[in-house]
Amino acid sequence: MRQQLRQYVAELGTENLPAYVYDLQDLREHAAAVRAALPERVQLFYAAKANSDPRLLDVLRDHVDGFEVASGGELHHIRATCPDSPIAFGGPGKTPAELEQALRAGVDRLHIESEQELHQLTGMLGERTVDVLLRVNLPIALGPVALAMGGRPSPFGLDPGHLDRCLALLADDPRIRLRGIHVHLASGLDAATHLDLAGQVLTWAREWAERHGVELSEVNLGGGMGVDYTRPDLRFDWAACGAGLRRLLEAHPNLTLRIEPGRSVTVYCGWYVTEVLDIKRSHGHPFAVLRGGTHHLRTPATKQHDQPFTVLPDDTWDRRWERPRAENEPVTLVGQLCTPKDVLADGVQVARLRVGDRIAFALAGAYAWNISHHEFLMHPAPQFHHLDHAPVLVGPHP
Ligand SMILES: *Cc1c(COP(=O)(O)O)cnc(C)c1O
Repeated sequence: MRQQLRQYVAELGTENLPAYVYDLQDLREHAAAVRAALPERVQLFYAAKANSDPRLLDVLRDHVDGFEVASGGELHHIRATCPDSPIAFGGPGKTPAELEQALRAGVDRLHIESEQELHQLTGMLGERTVDVLLRVNLPIALGPVALAMGGRPSPFGLDPGHLDRCLALLADDPRIRLRGIHVHLASGLDAATHLDLAGQVLTWAREWAERHGVELSEVNLGGGMGVDYTRPDLRFDWAACGAGLRRLLEAHPNLTLRIEPGRSVTVYCGWYVTEVLDIKRSHGHPFAVLRGGTHHLRTPATKQHDQPFTVLPDDTWDRRWERPRAENEPVTLVGQLCTPKDVLADGVQVARLRVGDRIAFALAGAYAWNISHHEFLMHPAPQFHHLDHAPVLVGPHP
């Protein structure tokens, strides 16, 4: 936690809690470092579904080549916040209205998920043209653990066996320009695994294109770059990834690669900050009850992990009773919801935790607020603070 951020959080009044605090300077530096690690022939798109907070997007637009959206809502949002940025529109179950919206918006790429979608598109194009990638569900195995992206049933993308029928449709319709293929590898990959998969994908794509006389100019490798919630300092190795992709590109001189990470881009810049309302023991085990909970930060419940956190001690206790505390013991951090699932960290060792101390949960910048069940129990929404050169408070909703 940067010193400036720590101080800002410590100075927030109780009435400001819980709060999401976004470190925009941290995001700017991180995004610039990711971009700098990648070769020029790798385009960097940001998957907006990870976090589409307008101020984060405003920082990112200067460092990415565009945005990947997966709904008409996201498409509208990106157009409104970053009007000049290229957009790739992917995701299953695009409605006819969303396809029409994409055509009107002039999206840079449409990622085709099925034969049905291609038929739908053909019927509505009129005089217009569109650039597409076919999203493929490839059966690629990796090392001793078979990390199947395909070979396993999935609602995402096309089975390789169905590509021929798509190619036949495309051959009949010059308005739909096939640029290449799209593959969302998997999630939680480290750089070496990502590169291994990327190599297999490129080999497959080249052979497939040669076999079918397809002019392959692009491969989108998707997102899924790993974030380790148990070791927040251990970030995805972008330098190794960039170097590896550069080597791969040498064997494919006419190819442009694109990646579209989400989590690994914004996760580190977000903090969910709150305070300890109560500490009590149940059958000997200490529970710290926090203001807020998983209705604001659902990530640990969804991913079944302990959300990493920092304790910011508050020494202003002036009550006349003994301050409830836990010391040198594992504590379970829960929220205010009346459900046993409202656990943010389960039995995590703390040196000292007292009622009134602040907790700053790290890695809360992606798939956090925007995937949470905000209305459950009707507690107040958190505030949103954006710390940059000068902090800005907005809220309750970005
Ligand atoms: C969700 C998603 C991404 C981003 O994945 P991360 O794990 O956040 O990097 C990229 N591409 C597609 C198609 C997705 O569905």
